[in-house]
Amino acid sequence: MNKGLLSVDEALETLLAGAKPVKEVEQVPTMAAANRVLAQAQTSTMDVPPMDNSAMDGYAVRLADVSSIQKLRISQRIPAGSVGKPLEAGTAARIFTGAPVPAGADAIVMQEHCSVSGDFVVINKTPEKGEWIRLTASDIRRGGVVLTAGKRLLPQDIGLAASVGIKALPVFRKVRLGLFFTGDELVMPGDPLPPGRIYNSNRFTLNGLAAAFGGEVRDYGIVPDKLGATREVLRRAAAENDIIVTSGGVSVGDEDHVKPAVEAEGSLLMWKISMKPGRPLAFGRVGNAAFIGLPGNPVSSFVTFLIFVRPFLLKTQGQMGTAPRAIEARADFDWPAPDARREFLRVKWNAQGGLELYPTQDSAVLTSTAWADGLLDNPAGRAIRKGERVRFLPYAELFR
Ligand code: AMP
Ligand code: MG
Repeated sequence: MNKGLLSVDEALETLLAGAKPVKEVEQVPTMAAANRVLAQAQTSTMDVPPMDNSAMDGYAVRLADVSSIQKLRISQRIPAGSVGKPLEAGTAARIFTGAPVPAGADAIVMQEHCSVSGDFVVINKTPEKGEWIRLTASDIRRGGVVLTAGKRLLPQDIGLAASVGIKALPVFRKVRLGLFFTGDELVMPGDPLPPGRIYNSNRFTLNGLAAAFGGEVRDYGIVPDKLGATREVLRRAAAENDIIVTSGGVSVGDEDHVKPAVEAEGSLLMWKISMKPGRPLAFGRVGNAAFIGLPGNPVSSFVTFLIFVRPFLLKTQGQMGTAPRAIEARADFDWPAPDARREFLRVKWNAQGGLELYPTQDSAVLTSTAWADGLLDNPAGRAIRKGERVRFLPYAELFR
């Protein structure tokens, strides 16, 4: 650890200790609940499947019959959605996938193993007992938990809720997240770019990230590098949001007004974090809102959002378990001169299943983040030799 620098884990611990999960719960139609966080566990009031049913198109038979007679009269037809009669001894029922198995039948013969002539079916392969029958409650038992509280709902989760007849779900209200961007150099795409100016790319990256994690975004746009203007937008954002996230202006240069503005309107901890990219980070409160000030460099704000704002936002949103799952992977490159800080390197899978490194790791080079498949989490001071195992945080996990 560098002297005077806070470790990522220490910063994260302090940050998360200050994240207060929202309490308000709202009922939303199950169809609209994807990407929301479930507030109460859901149990099933029914068995799934609710009845024994066929897993195949074919013929329902009694095993006792099939072992003696191979040719059976087709006594009924049971399409999905209808209920047949008990199966007459010595006969077969034509049956389709999802249709209830008639009483008395104890196996389904798939149609590929049958030949039909007129009203009769010849069974060419004797089935096992219970073959191709999906048993009642084999998926879900009445009273069983189908979804746990604190889970961010994926499309398959709302499908699962619907499969047991749940038409509305209790979810936490969305977290309101205010964003603003400091820097007199910033210009919006579509406006002319005078000499010395740059486009406000962070506005796009951070809006997208906040929305990806279910935040209800309020965007206050570009704020001039002036103390008064910064204080004013802070006050407004604090009244309208649960969390305020800003980009830029958290260094201690003359043009960096975020620190004095937050100190004047609330309270602030300024951190120098032992990480690369993203050394400066500000954390505080303004009124009832939490404040997180990210560095302005585009790669730094992207990475610090994923490492710090993501878990903070998810915890505030009521989600359980916010740590991204890392996987072990092989580095197919040398990293001979590591930094004294923990590094989040932009890397990508290659065709051999190893990781390649983006050639420049400069925190202003946003291309690296778009090129990458995730971040290699390299401990402070660790040199990497080609072929070694490393800790990889795929975007698929960071965006989960
Ligand atoms: P700062 O943290 O304000 O000192 O900014 C660090 C670097 O990031 C400077 O090169 C800024 O021009 C750049 N930067 C700051 N804000 C943005 C932004 N919203 N979009 C793109 N680059 C930015
Ligand atoms: Mg600036």
